[in-house]
Amino acid sequence: MTRGEQIGSTSSAHDGGSVVLGLDVGGSSVKHLLAPARSSTDAPPAPRARGRHATPKDSPVDGLAAIVSSLRGDTELERVVLSIPGLVDEAEGVVVRSTNIPSLDGRPLGAQLADELGIPVDVINDGHAAAVAEASWGAGSGIDDVFVLALGTGIAGAHVVDGRVVPGAHGSAGELGHITIEPSGRVCSCGRRGCLETIIGAPALRRAWAEAGGTGGPEVLLAASADGDATAAAIVERASAALAEAILTLCALVDPGCIVIGGGLAQAPHRLVRLAERYVGERASFHRVPPIVPATLGEWAGANGAVLTALRRQRALARS
Ligand SMILES: [Zn+2]
Repeated sequence: MTRGEQIGSTSSAHDGGSVVLGLDVGGSSVKHLLAPARSSTDAPPAPRARGRHATPKDSPVDGLAAIVSSLRGDTELERVVLSIPGLVDEAEGVVVRSTNIPSLDGRPLGAQLADELGIPVDVINDGHAAAVAEASWGAGSGIDDVFVLALGTGIAGAHVVDGRVVPGAHGSAGELGHITIEPSGRVCSCGRRGCLETIIGAPALRRAWAEAGGTGGPEVLLAASADGDATAAAIVERASAALAEAILTLCALVDPGCIVIGGGLAQAPHRLVRLAERYVGERASFHRVPPIVPATLGEWAGANGAVLTALRRQRALARS
């Protein structure tokens, strides 16, 4: 699978001129976004081209280098930033661990691709990429202090201040999915009990729905709840209440100016999020509850975050 879309009638990826490339490397597909290297970072640039390719899982360095080469054409490609699912040492460009693409584990991907391509290549975490993009160019745009929460299979968060993720001393801040909601609850994938993810992650919702006799995934559960199914509604209410507790903890600790909620579950009917928002309002005490808004960049958030990072690093280079 390799599909590309040239944007605009007069400019294409192959017109020449300086560009930067953002690649959002997912478990099954790689999305690319090519943008002029002198774009402002204040708003999303008009992309030169975008598209997607099958993820090269067996020989990822050669495969990713081939994707970059195919997009390069006769343009002057100044920098590539890859957004990668998993634990990434962003300073060294090393993929420490990637559950979706195990062949990347331990690879100094940035250095290997830079050698191959002869240009700077950076590697960033996909959650951070999406969060930076949503905070700067998406739903959090214009607000200095944004917490971006991704509801999907897992639940990840990133605190973005002045357009940059606050990673914590060890790079592991924002793990909202592992806040304890029920100390005696189910065992979580992390080994502890009753984490938020045991109640509201996609697998947890699927399991709760199956145990109640339902069939299908979280989308079916949410649709049944919206249609008035009392069993489904009870599961959704419990999940929303758990999310509300986590958000109140977040407000107490971080006091963000805005909470952006994205990810696969948030793109399903918004009932889960809207209900959580209501519970937050009802249960808040001293908390300053900020606007809770849906993400706006959808599946292109990671690629946008990669492009934004590339533009910022080129500007920093030009200043130094
Ligand atoms: Zn956990």
